Amino acid sequence: MKLEDEAHELELIAKALQIISKEISYQGLAKALLREALSYCGVARGGVLLSEGGELLAKVDASFPRERAKFFTSYPAAREIRLPADLGERVLNRRETVIRHATWEDSALIDPAEPPPRNITQLCLPLVHQEWTIGVLYLEAERGEEIFTPRCVWVMSMLASQAAVSFESVSLFEALRETNMWMVKGQEIGRMGSYRWNTRTLLSRASRECYRIFDIDLEINPVPFEVFKSCVHPDDFPALEQAIAEAVSTKSPFSQEYRVVHRDGTILSVAAVGQFDLGPSGDVELEGIITDITERKAAEQALTDARNELARAVRLASLGELAGSIIHEINQPLTGIIMSAEACLRWLARDHVEPSEARKSAVRVIEQGHRASDVITGLKSLVRNAQLNFTKIDINDAVEKVLLLSKRELERAGVILRIDFDRTLPNIAADLVQIQQVVLNLVRNAIEAMADVEGRSRILTASSKAADGHVSVTITDTGVGINPANRERLFDALYTTKESGLGLGLSICRKIVTVHGGRLWVEENTTHGATFAFVLPLCQSIQISGRN
Ligand code: ADP
Repeated sequence: MKLEDEAHELELIAKALQIISKEISYQGLAKALLREALSYCGVARGGVLLSEGGELLAKVDASFPRERAKFFTSYPAAREIRLPADLGERVLNRRETVIRHATWEDSALIDPAEPPPRNITQLCLPLVHQEWTIGVLYLEAERGEEIFTPRCVWVMSMLASQAAVSFESVSLFEALRETNMWMVKGQEIGRMGSYRWNTRTLLSRASRECYRIFDIDLEINPVPFEVFKSCVHPDDFPALEQAIAEAVSTKSPFSQEYRVVHRDGTILSVAAVGQFDLGPSGDVELEGIITDITERKAAEQALTDARNELARAVRLASLGELAGSIIHEINQPLTGIIMSAEACLRWLARDHVEPSEARKSAVRVIEQGHRASDVITGLKSLVRNAQLNFTKIDINDAVEKVLLLSKRELERAGVILRIDFDRTLPNIAADLVQIQQVVLNLVRNAIEAMADVEGRSRILTASSKAADGHVSVTITDTGVGINPANRERLFDALYTTKESGLGLGLSICRKIVTVHGGRLWVEENTTHGATFAFVLPLCQSIQISGRN
């Protein structure tokens, strides 16, 4: 061979080696090796098979896609490459390079697109990488042509060696590609992106999912801080900036939730966390994860909405109950009014007019009218702050007057009254009428609680004393007592255990005492019954409107 031919040939070989070494996929590697081999030898038929006999799988393990145990390529296209048993034994197991004459039945190309010539010469080389046969290079020519010269075989073995070496890079690359694919997929499923932000250059590098979350074009890499800033909701940016500044100055872990605005106006909620370390450049970098929590936020919002809706429904139900009670409470006196008024008319319509009976009926009309009016007044003081009229009052005197008013009621109910007042109490500032309403309510409740009591004395004890800047008043009974489970519910508007109760008394009482700056509560007696107590402050900061 002439020198320049030799130089030209070496150039061809170098080029072929270079092409093979550049491949980064199994398929690409197999194709490049076949193309270069066919072109160098000048034959028209051949194939490359990667991964034969399972050894390859054992070697490359994770990176080699298990679902495709082998890769092959051939020219002409064939269904499969399968070496005849003896050839397989020599090439794959003994790793020999074999040239042999055969007939078309022994061709390794199974069901080729073009049928082989009747008599063929085969060249078959193992692809050996670190002790392992990772595949074969198979070429065939029509017998008679002197194609597979020793030089040709030498060049083919060089190409095969290069392919085997490249196989290593392909494995690594495939492994990397697969790991990366897992990460991208994982981040996509978890709606979570990773980022590194250089605190000196203010540039960020981020995973694909971050680009999706922020709606930033993939070409922008690294991402300048201004681009990132333009994605953050303007209302959330100041807090985010402050959180970043704090984390940067203290080097403490960073965590912040904020909103991201997409170019089409879509708004996402994200949670960002991160921590500081030294990046590859030696700069301090914030490395972390950004999670798209839009769906979680929406679910939380839906839950809050549902809770509010439920609370509203409960309120409406209470309103319904309240309305029912109001109707009941007002209907009774109204029915009474109508009946008494009709009776009155009947007395007047008689031949012998009975003015005294008519008068009685008219008085009953007035009484029932007052009852209806009282119910309405009670409701008014519950729903609206009644105008308080503060004066200086003697609390003992106020309570005593209520007891006096209730005297007949107490007697009728067979209740013994005991009074235990501290007579040295100073006057306090309070609305007399309202405080008396509280006491009256507590006394009535006490009487009612003792109504069904048999076999023990019905005793109502009213006491007063000074207590730590306050005066305290207690109304104790020997009635049915309080079920501890319902203790706080007693003060809820509409809570009642009585058939004709309105359940407003205690809630109104508590409201009155509270606006006086005091407190009203219930205690269970050690033996029988209950004690309702309230305290009122000795000194009122509220302006006193009257004098006493
Ligand atoms: P009402 O008297 O219309 O039921 P209240 O708000 O005054 O409304 O009272 C609410 C409930 O508290 C009563 O139905 C009763 O069950 C309970 N209660 C109030 N006072 C007493 C008491 N002295 N002893 C036992 N239970 C009481």
